[in-house]
Amino acid sequence: MAKIGFIGLGNMGAPMARNLIKAGHSVSVFDLNKQVVNELADEGAHAGTTADEVTHGAQFVISMLPAAKHVKSLYLADDGLIHHLASDTVVIDCSTIDAASATEVGQALADKGIAFVDAPVSGGVAGASAGTLTFIVGGAKTHFNAVQPVLEDMGKNIFHAGDIGAGQVAKICNNMLLSILMAGTSEALQMGINHGLDPKVLSDIMVNSSGRNWTLELYNPCPGVLENAPSSNNYQPGFMVDLMAKDLGLALEAAQNSGSATPLGALSKNLYTLLQNQGAGAQDFSAIFNLFEKK
Ligand code: NAD
Repeated sequence: MAKIGFIGLGNMGAPMARNLIKAGHSVSVFDLNKQVVNELADEGAHAGTTADEVTHGAQFVISMLPAAKHVKSLYLADDGLIHHLASDTVVIDCSTIDAASATEVGQALADKGIAFVDAPVSGGVAGASAGTLTFIVGGAKTHFNAVQPVLEDMGKNIFHAGDIGAGQVAKICNNMLLSILMAGTSEALQMGINHGLDPKVLSDIMVNSSGRNWTLELYNPCPGVLENAPSSNNYQPGFMVDLMAKDLGLALEAAQNSGSATPLGALSKNLYTLLQNQGAGAQDFSAIFNLFEKK
């Protein structure tokens, strides 16, 4: 079993760390939010008071932070982990950030002999809790082989996408598609409702027809269709609108950098910005359903 330092215990990080504890690893945890650190300590983690402290003697350091600025600051700031980590540490950043930032952090660590992989995830909070996440890894094959057993304790499908940064590119392609599916599913359901259809019946019809997709089947945006979906719990996240808007910003940046045409991604980014401007940034991303409601 490995000694692991885990930093960032939010909606995703906390259940991921829980699964590492359950698998028998020695897990030291840190988050700016002390309450969640204490909760994890009650469940068997070692509580840390700084990021530096939880990485001492760790074979693996895992970070699960909101955005690139948090990741860069954690590793590269004047007092960042780059100045403290032992050279045999393997760093696994699971946050969703832009590929260029992942490469910058990875390269800086590599210059100090420290291994790095970007390993963003798909599967949401439910997947993090159930230990069924998909990990999309970018990094050297030897480093991929080193991290695979640890990732298997938090996930079901572990993919090697390519070199450092490739995990982030693949992840952002997935999330752009996810946002488009969520928006499309929402407008179709609302149109059915406007014609007097029962959204549960309509969902069942489309799940068994060619409109079938993940958002419709497992994360339905209409309240009451799926009991466990965030839509049935007042759109409590889940995956916040603000984080989806961030990911769509990364997707459009990646499109620009590669000369890719992404008209639906651009439209989806605007829809999510509209939702943010309506004050729904902290709701689950399925709240886009409400944008299409006929008042
Ligand atoms: P979150 O906001 O719930 O959690 C982030 C945590 O990081 C918070 O607890 C915060 O206190 C902590 N934090 C911030 N800066 C810190 C620092 N310097 N040191 C220690 N802790 C710090 O976010 P989340 O939903 O858990 O998402 C984390 C990442 O995973 C994001 O990049 C997101 O895009 C990605 N992601 C989220 C989901 C989802 O469904 N929520 C799914 C896939 C990927």
